[in-house]
Parts: sequence; structure tokens; C-alpha cells
Amino acid sequence: MTRGDAISLAYLAAIVAFILALRFLSSPARARLGNWLGALGMAIAIAATFAHPGLSNEVWILLVMAVSAPIGAYGARAVKMTDIPQMVALFNGVGGGAAALIALAEFHERAPESGRLAANVGISIVLSALIGAVSFAGSMVAFAKLQDLLSGRPIVYPQQKVGNAALVAALVAAAIVVLVGVEEQAIVGALILGALLFGVLFVLPIGGADMPVVISLLNACTGLAAAATGFVLHQNVLIVSGMLVGASGTLLTLLMARSMGRSVGNVLFGAFGQLQVTPDALAASADGHVRSTSAEDVAVMLAYAQRVIVVPGYGLAVAQAQHDVRKLADELQARGVDVRYAIHPVAGRMPGHMNVLLAEANVPYDELFEMEQINGDFPQTDVALVIGANDVTNPAARTQLGSPIYGMPILDVDRAKNVVVIKRSMNPGFAGIDNPLYRDPKTVMLFADAREGVAKLVEGVKAL
Ligand code: NDP
Repeated sequence: MTRGDAISLAYLAAIVAFILALRFLSSPARARLGNWLGALGMAIAIAATFAHPGLSNEVWILLVMAVSAPIGAYGARAVKMTDIPQMVALFNGVGGGAAALIALAEFHERAPESGRLAANVGISIVLSALIGAVSFAGSMVAFAKLQDLLSGRPIVYPQQKVGNAALVAALVAAAIVVLVGVEEQAIVGALILGALLFGVLFVLPIGGADMPVVISLLNACTGLAAAATGFVLHQNVLIVSGMLVGASGTLLTLLMARSMGRSVGNVLFGAFGQLQVTPDALAASADGHVRSTSAEDVAVMLAYAQRVIVVPGYGLAVAQAQHDVRKLADELQARGVDVRYAIHPVAGRMPGHMNVLLAEANVPYDELFEMEQINGDFPQTDVALVIGANDVTNPAARTQLGSPIYGMPILDVDRAKNVVVIKRSMNPGFAGIDNPLYRDPKTVMLFADAREGVAKLVEGVKAL
């Protein structure tokens, strides 16, 4: 076997590892293994690349890896579970940025020597530059919004749509100029700058509950940019892994949009001109009819119920209340109460967030139910126990036409016989809007940190 054959085989092994990784990542029970397989595939791909005879600047590459790998490893270990979306946005953006820079470098290398770029190379370079730069800039804005460095609400201004359309037209024109053979490095540079600007302008008007969709869309874009870069560099492993990311990101985008009850187009362009609720309006609409209760009363209500559905949300993740929730369920189940969990697809701050949290506390998978499986059971449920969830239970999604979450399917907790909401205050959730559920006569509020509140419930049930 020649060295070239061995390298090709290694790349093939890496591709197989990536495909298996995705397969395993689709089940919570095997997701860890999937992650390890992905990392193994990446290690094989890197080793095979270093074995390439034509590789130059090895020392520089190793130096950069020696600095950046520990930063990545530390970041991944130190990040709080609730900050994962920001981290995904950041890592994703860096991938897109790398694709754009490679496109610039390859254009610089190839255009002068060939006089005119071969059509396939030219198209790949332009796509890699365009999509990579949009993905980089868009991901950075998404990061800033999720990290509260920018307002999480849609940022809109007059003539936004017209401005964006003009920018897209200019980008297409610049791409055509590059493809017909104008060998100006400055034009590729301008193409990248324009794409960066478009990335910023494209994500600014998206906000609130729509962020999960835009993050997975940007993820798909980075995959496509990487695949285009693979064509530029004649790297099959990059083409396949880029396509895997592109395809899985696209599927996730469609699934997330569907679970929000929206089309992708509506998510991306729907915020233009949308009215946002002001904090004053929120306060005015939220006062008056809220009933608060004590942990002791809720413990009695739960202990004497027949059926309880727990609805976890972002606040449960922030408070790290999953272990206490498991203890509460154990206590209730020991008393013969039927306890199940209702999982909304966008609860928390990342896809599968609630599944991961509850799996950490060893909650049996067969007690977890997706929204469409469990929504019909709320009317026969004695208590819907909402812990740190807000937007995913907001009935305004069904009734308030102008609401930013109008049309998003929600967990029908308001159809249960009684609703208990554990949260710290009347503050809104991610979408920044009032939740009429809290003024429903069936609802009582237990104002507490989720972990402390649930721990008190455990004590209360035990004491009965
Ligand atoms: P929300 O963000 O709507 O609400 C969370 C609630 O938790 C808040 O109202 C807050 O109220 C409460 N809370 C915060 N900290 C605590 C605590 N320590 N103890 C108790 N309560 C607490 O969460 P949901 O899960 O209902 O909805 C998720 C939202 O996030 C959706 O709008 C979704 O679109 C969006 N999103 C989802 C992503 C995903 O991929 N899943 C990614 C990005 C955004 P208070 O401050 O009063 O305690």
C-alpha cells in the first residue's frame, strides 16, 4: 500500500466515524458515544492531513493548534449548560470565517497563475467566501444576542428589506464579476466584506423565540461553506463532513421551524415591522390577578393528585434543579401518583436541552413525552407543574395575533385541572412577552428559585 492509499483509507475511516457519530447523536442513550466517535474522526482526519507529502508550514499549524486546542477544550469544559447556544454560535461562526479566509487565500494563489479560474474552482471559491462570511458575521451577532451583549429582541429599522435586497444584488454582481475572470483580489475582498455586512443585517431583525431556528440555519451554512472549501482544496473528507453538517443543520432548521409552527421564511423575514411589547405594557398587563401560594400547599396538591405532568423549562436548567425534580417524582410515585414529563422542542436554550438535563438525573426515558404525544392528556391531568418554563406554555401563541410567538405550538398546560408555576418573579421568558397563563384562575404561582422551590416540595411531600 502506498502512502497515498493509506492517507485515503484514513480519510475514509474519518468519514465513516462522522456518519456513525451523527447516527449515535440522534439518541440520548448513545449521544456520548456519538460525540467520542466524532472526535475520533476529527483526530484521524488531522493525522492524515499531517501525513500529506505536500503539506507546508507544519510548524505554524502546530503552533496555532497548540494555542487554540487548550482554549477550545477549556471553553467546552467550563461552559455552563445554559450557555451552550452561545458557544455553538461562536464555534460555528469560526468555522464559517475559516472557510471564507481559505477562499481568499486560494483565490490569491490560483487566479494569477491560471489567468482565469476554472469554472468549478471559481464557483467553489465564491460560494465558500460568500456563505462562510455570512455564517461568520451572522453567528457573531447571534452570539452577541444570546450573551446579552446586544438586545435579544428583533432590531428593526426603516427600509431594512430594501437595503438587504440591494446588498444581495450587489453581492451577486460581484460574484459574477469574479466568475467571468476579473482577477482583482480587491473584488473577492469586497465580496467577503459585503457578505459580512449581510450576515450582520440578516440576523439583527431576528430575535426572541426565533433564535434556535437561526442558529441551526447558520450551522447548516457553515457546513455548506466547508463543503465548498472541500471542492476548492480537492478534499473529500471536507466535502463529506461539510455536507453532513449542511444536511443535518438544514433538517434541524426545518424541524425547529415546524415545532414553532412557522415556515423558515416567516422566521427569517417575519420580524420586519413587528411591534414589540414595551416593559411598561408588560407590567401593566401583568398586574392584578396573579395568585401566589406556598410550597406546603403545593406539596399537598401534588401528593393527593392522581396524575401530574412536569413541564421543565429554561429556569430549571439555570437552577440545576433536575436532581431535585427527580427526587420529587420518586416521592410522588411512591405514593402512587402518575408522574410524567412534557418536553417542548424549543424548551431551554438548545435542541434537546431538557432531555439532556433530565437524563443527567437518570429520569427514565419512558417518562419523557414529546409535545404532540402528551398535549391531549392535559385535560385529564390534576396538576401541571411548570418549572422555570414560560414561552413554551404561553397561551398567547394560540390567541394573540400580533404576538411574536403567535402560531408556535405550545404545551397545553392551561387545559390541566390545576396549574402550578415555579419561577422567581413575573419576569418574562426569552421572547420578552407577557404570559396570560399566570392570571388564569386555575393557576397558582410559587415564587422561588426552581431548585429551592422543588427541594421544599420534596420536604413537604415527605412530611405528609
Ligand atoms: P423561557 O426563556 O421562556 O422562560 C424561562 C423562565 O424561567 C423565565 O420566565 C424565568 O422567570 C424563569 N427562571 C429563570 N431562572 C430561574 C430560576 N433560577 N428558578 C426558577 N425560574 C427561573 O423558557 P422556556 O424553556 O419556556 O422557553 C425557551 C425559550 O428560549 C423559547 O422562547 C425558545 O424559542 C428560546 N430559545 C430556545 C432555544 C432552543 O434551542 N431550545 C435556543 C435559543 C432560544 P423568572 O426570572 O421570573 O424566574
